[in-house]
Amino acid sequence: CWRSTVVALLRCVRSINVENRKRAIVTGAAGFIGGHLLERLISLGWDVAGVDDMSAGHPELLPNPVRSLIGTADFASANVLNAVGHVDVVFHLAAVPRVSYSVEHPLETHRTNYDKTIALIDSIRLAHRRPRIVMASSSSVYGDGVPLPTAEESACLFAQLSPYAMQKLQCEMALRMYWQLYGVDSVALRFFNVFGPRQLGSSPYAQAIAAWLTAYHEGRNLRSDGDGEQQRDMCYVSNVVDACIAAALAPDKLCAKALNVGCGQRVSNNAILAFLGERLGSLTVERAPVRPGDVRITHADISAARSVIGYVPTVDIWDGIARTMAWYADHYACGGVG
Ligand code: NAD
Repeated sequence: CWRSTVVALLRCVRSINVENRKRAIVTGAAGFIGGHLLERLISLGWDVAGVDDMSAGHPELLPNPVRSLIGTADFASANVLNAVGHVDVVFHLAAVPRVSYSVEHPLETHRTNYDKTIALIDSIRLAHRRPRIVMASSSSVYGDGVPLPTAEESACLFAQLSPYAMQKLQCEMALRMYWQLYGVDSVALRFFNVFGPRQLGSSPYAQAIAAWLTAYHEGRNLRSDGDGEQQRDMCYVSNVVDACIAAALAPDKLCAKALNVGCGQRVSNNAILAFLGERLGSLTVERAPVRPGDVRITHADISAARSVIGYVPTVDIWDGIARTMAWYADHYACGGVG
């Protein structure tokens, strides 16, 4: 429960003065990216506490001690907001991140993605000792029709195609205001399409690679939206974790900058399906209509992230897909729980 996590966190905080270890809270820690981040932070010797309300989290997929360091709580609950002054970094990954879900539920997603994020940022403003915020933003803030590869300054007001995209841009704007008005240090990392092990694909809102590998292992047809020629900058999850940690450790203030975190290359859904088909045998692909709010092409210009935080992706899409396929094979060999 969260209380025991706070106790553990405070115990860590007391020992830190001696050990001089970095301390962090990860929100959304039982989620796909949050679980990978928490696991890496632990392996690097950080003192960490994760928080997740389990609305979409899958702690059962995480090994211990990762799982045991996640408390079940809303990230905007008082216990969590009161704990932020004890850490060096808050990695804010919790969200309702599904574009098409936000199209169907604009108000509900606004409350979690924006209102609660403001509560978190404001508690950091009020903390006796302010941590840096590393916030998960999204390439969806760009919408369609931007220059490719897309640099950060291409984000325009009113270009967002979904409530989710708008909410992420609003959070970035809030970070900027809290930096300018109050000096709260932060960075918004605009993740492009992230994929990898432990990303589950059974929900109708799932990302393409997870949805296809799930469908394959469950003996169902693979659904491909539109003509399949939409192109995405697909980024393997370990690259995103690298970027989060580089942002947390950057020595200079990050001044609420927004930075792209992708691979810097784009591939079409059809090319990924062909790659999967070569390795898995013939696949039955079923065409479906394009989902409202989906951006057709994403391609990150990652030069700013390289120069500001030293981010360089080390796992390319094809290697990443191979690793993801291996995880799915093991997962389903063990019964596919989750
Ligand atoms: P995810 O759904 O797997 O993880 C999000 C986690 O947040 C879930 O475990 C959920 O239970 C938790 N959560 C939701 N509301 C909460 C609340 N009020 N309090 C506590 N926990 C709460 O999603 P993900 O793919 O791991 O995404 C992580 C972050 O990265 C999100 O902010 C998302 O918008 C962003 N992002 C993801 C991608 C991607 O391709 N996966 C791309 C761009 C941005």
